[in-house]
Amino acid sequence: MAGKEPLSLRDDFVGIEPYDPGLCVQDVVLSANENSFGMPAEVRAAVLSAVSEVAFERYPDPLADALREDIAAWHGTDRRRVIVGNGGDELIFDLLLAFGGPGRVLLDCPPTFSIYALYAKLTGTEVCSIVRDADDFSLDQAAIEAAAANADIVMLTSPNNPTGTLVDPAWVASLAGLARGIVVVDEAYIEFAEEDASCVALFDACPNLVILRTFSKAYALAGVRCGYLLAPEAVVRGIAAVRQPYSVDAVSQAIARTVVAHRDAYRPTIEAIKRQRERLSNGLREIEGVTVWPSEGNFLLVRMPRARDVYERLRDDFSILVRDFSGAPFLKDCLRISVGAPEENDRVLSAVALLRKELS
Ligand code: PMP
Repeated sequence: MAGKEPLSLRDDFVGIEPYDPGLCVQDVVLSANENSFGMPAEVRAAVLSAVSEVAFERYPDPLADALREDIAAWHGTDRRRVIVGNGGDELIFDLLLAFGGPGRVLLDCPPTFSIYALYAKLTGTEVCSIVRDADDFSLDQAAIEAAAANADIVMLTSPNNPTGTLVDPAWVASLAGLARGIVVVDEAYIEFAEEDASCVALFDACPNLVILRTFSKAYALAGVRCGYLLAPEAVVRGIAAVRQPYSVDAVSQAIARTVVAHRDAYRPTIEAIKRQRERLSNGLREIEGVTVWPSEGNFLLVRMPRARDVYERLRDDFSILVRDFSGAPFLKDCLRISVGAPEENDRVLSAVALLRKELS
């Protein structure tokens, strides 16, 4: 190893920063699109009871077959077309590891979830970015269709983080027909969207379509780390081959199974979050100088003058944490605010109104 420092990182990873969700302890945390309402009490009780039965001394079932079976029954498909992961994040990584890599191309549509590009870099996958419209963040469908002919993975996000926009399932069906590779629709936030927004109904008809879902958002399990893909069998097999065998531990499997069994109990909370989204966006729109984009997720993208200062003052003077995108590409002066519980949204509204007066 002549000439190499013993602890030198591989050259192509030098300069990569760890993924930073900007977390810090505050009274009101609206920075990570979590579910501020938490789990319904009866689901929590069922989860605690399920955890008490877990055989902690045993390795978990590597592929979590019982959980896959439950998810398959939920979505009317076969267990062989479901794979679970340590959060959606791990599945995105494994997808790129198995189906991306050197000489292969991921198509993404920024501004979008930054993990796609980060994991593309880590797996040596080239990224082809088709940027969204600067005003309404709609997709450049013609450019995506053209580029999809050369992409191994097309990553669409519906609702998109951080813009809150949906993709049209009818267009996804036609894109999947044109695409050379896999078309992924990341539906991490789909439970908050209008009815019929999901692409899940296309799943049987499109042999190259993958749907990503997570328990982290609507199902209030961000701390547990469990997500899943509905995917063609060949994709499931590819991911099964590269994944870490025990990445979804026995506790997470038991919790996720309980949540699937009680999924209907979340309906009132999801409806409450949607009502709060309406209230928060109407309230923010009334504040002078604030632009709020329509959102189908549990978060709002907002733009205002001196957004970075507003972000810092919210954090330091009001103990409110939101996500600062003011310096991110295509998101100048933007903040992303997760929809919180009613009193959290009240605090955001009065703090932003005050700061806008003070800082203008
Ligand atoms: N997709 C999108 C668009 C997201 O915003 C997130 C979480 N921030 C994920 C996937 C992954 O979530 P998790 O790893 O918690 O399942």
